[in-house]
Amino acid sequence: MIAITPIEFEKMRAHLAAGYPNEACGIFIGEIEGADKRVVEAVPVANAWVPLEGDGAGTGDLAVHDLRDRFSIDPRDIVKADREASKRGLDIIGFFHSHPDWPATPSETDRMWAWPVVSFMIVSVEQGRAGAARSWVLRDGRDAFDEEILIVE
Ligand SMILES: [Zn+2]
Repeated sequence: MIAITPIEFEKMRAHLAAGYPNEACGIFIGEIEGADKRVVEAVPVANAWVPLEGDGAGTGDLAVHDLRDRFSIDPRDIVKADREASKRGLDIIGFFHSHPDWPATPSETDRMWAWPVVSFMIVSVEQGRAGAARSWVLRDGRDAFDEEILIVE
């Protein structure tokens, strides 16, 4: 279960919608107790994905991955959020990102990138408008995600 206040939820959604048509992302800091998490702050960060040289970027090839279907978070942003969290007696409890014109279900890339324990919230952004939000947790075996209950209150 992950709980988030309407204010932080809307802050996250606004950041993700503003990133459209690219994927946008951020970090949740808050409290974690067992499988229960409470978001204290949704921290928006820049999508640091850089298409690889020779990946065909700019060729119009639909198989090429660019900022519209990839994201990465700069490790420096993670360290900064972690320091900020520690100062307040909190932890990094998850990450969020958007799926532009795509459902809020994790991709194979998400599974390879994901960390155990923390939450991965995905928000579908359709035509620039933030839609469904779903939250996922990687299984111990790293082979799949389980959806967790999302409470906005
Ligand atoms: Zn994704």
